[in-house]
Order: sequence, then C-alpha cells, then structure tokens
Amino acid sequence: MSDTIKVRYNEVLNRIEKACHNCGRNPDEIVLVAVSKTKPDSDVLELVDLGQVHFGENRAKSLEDRLEKIQNDAIQWHFIGTLQTNKIKYMSHRVNWIQSVHKKKALKEIEKRASADNRVINALVQVNISDEDQKSGCDPDELESILTYGQSLKFTKVRGLMGMATYTDDAEKVRPEFQKLKSLRDKHMHLANGSVSLEHLSMGMTNDLEVAIEEGSTMLRVGTAIFGERNY
Ligand SMILES: *Cc1c(COP(=O)(O)O)cnc(C)c1O
Repeated sequence: MSDTIKVRYNEVLNRIEKACHNCGRNPDEIVLVAVSKTKPDSDVLELVDLGQVHFGENRAKSLEDRLEKIQNDAIQWHFIGTLQTNKIKYMSHRVNWIQSVHKKKALKEIEKRASADNRVINALVQVNISDEDQKSGCDPDELESILTYGQSLKFTKVRGLMGMATYTDDAEKVRPEFQKLKSLRDKHMHLANGSVSLEHLSMGMTNDLEVAIEEGSTMLRVGTAIFGERNY
C-alpha cells in the first residue's frame, strides 16, 4: 500500500513537470494541493513525509476532524468544498486557504473569525465556469462587487479565483472553461488593491491538470491520481 502512494505521487509530480515543460512554464509556479477527502490520516502523514505541504478537504466536518487529529504546523490546509457561512467558525482557527468563497457574506464572516484569532486566511473566489446545472461558485457578474469588498479587509487576503470544470475526460471540453476563468482574472486585475491580489488560478484536477497548466493554472487540486479511487 505504502509504496503505491509514493509511486502515484511521483507520477503526478512528473505529469506536472512534463506539462510545464511542454508549454514553457516553471513547475515552481504551481502549487499542488493534495485532496485527501475520505482518505485515512495515515495517507496524509505519508505524503507529508514525502514533502507534500498543501492538503485540501471538501467538507467542513472532515476538515475539522482532520485539524484535530493531525496537528502539524508544516501543513497548509485548504477548504475546497461548498462553503456554508455558518461552518466557517469550525475551521477558521487553523485553515490557511478557503477556495470556495462565493459571496461577500462569506468574506465578512472569514474576516470576523480571522480577526478574532489574529491570523491571516487566504481566500479564493470560486466562479461558476462550467455549463452544468449544478451551480457552484458565484456568477461572473458578481465578481466585481465581491472583489471590491475584499480590498479593505485586513485578515483575509483574496489571492485569486477558483473554478471547477465540467466533469469529463474530454480535455477540449474543459479548455474553454479554464480560459474563461483566466480571462475573468485578467479582466478584474485592476481590482488588485489592498487585500486583493489575484495571482492565483486554482483549476485542474486528476483528469485535466495538463490542460489547466497550459491555460495558466497556478494551483492544482488533485485527489484520485495521488490517493487512488475513492469509494464515494
Ligand atoms: C474531489 C475534488 C477535487 C479532486 O478531484 P480528483 O478528480 O480526485 O483529482 C478537486 N476539487 C474539488 C473541489 C474536489 O471536491
């Protein structure tokens, strides 16, 4: 078992390196977030030993449990799932990145909690870029007002945008969605002021990380390719 994670992890690092090489990018520009959802703590610890720093969870309760059981200051924890404002208090004492901010109210609550704990939380605004009915993220039209709101925050740093592409094996289907996220970032770059910086684009998962890198991703969220298939 143990060997498997190491082998898979190295395969993912190789995929990233190769994809960067193919489009003239530097692999150091890319943050790999290992999406550990549903997997045992031992898998997380094994990856920490291999040098992995960033880990992501998509449920508030799972993240809370993980924070309790794995107390390791070397880890940067990301929340990547649907964000309910009333769950922010369960993670704000330790989470480093909340990638799924989709409204001002969530930023306001993150700021309140981060301020109370006198710590900084990085946020990404999730934008709905896929054409699937199941809507996640804000509408592109709402970005301007959310980012403007973020400028004056003190404990919350709005570092970029996050997008989930349509779930498919077809790279050419997701490419325009990644292009859309990047063009939305470029379009709003003039709002990078105060606590808003927008240097990150979190896009790309197991099936589409190469396309995401070609289209400018700076943060990949990879689960299956590192940890193996999930049972649910
Ligand atoms: C599960 C999940 C991922 C990782 O998906 P894989 O296809 O297993 O790599 C990435 N982002 C989010 C938001 C997820 O929920």
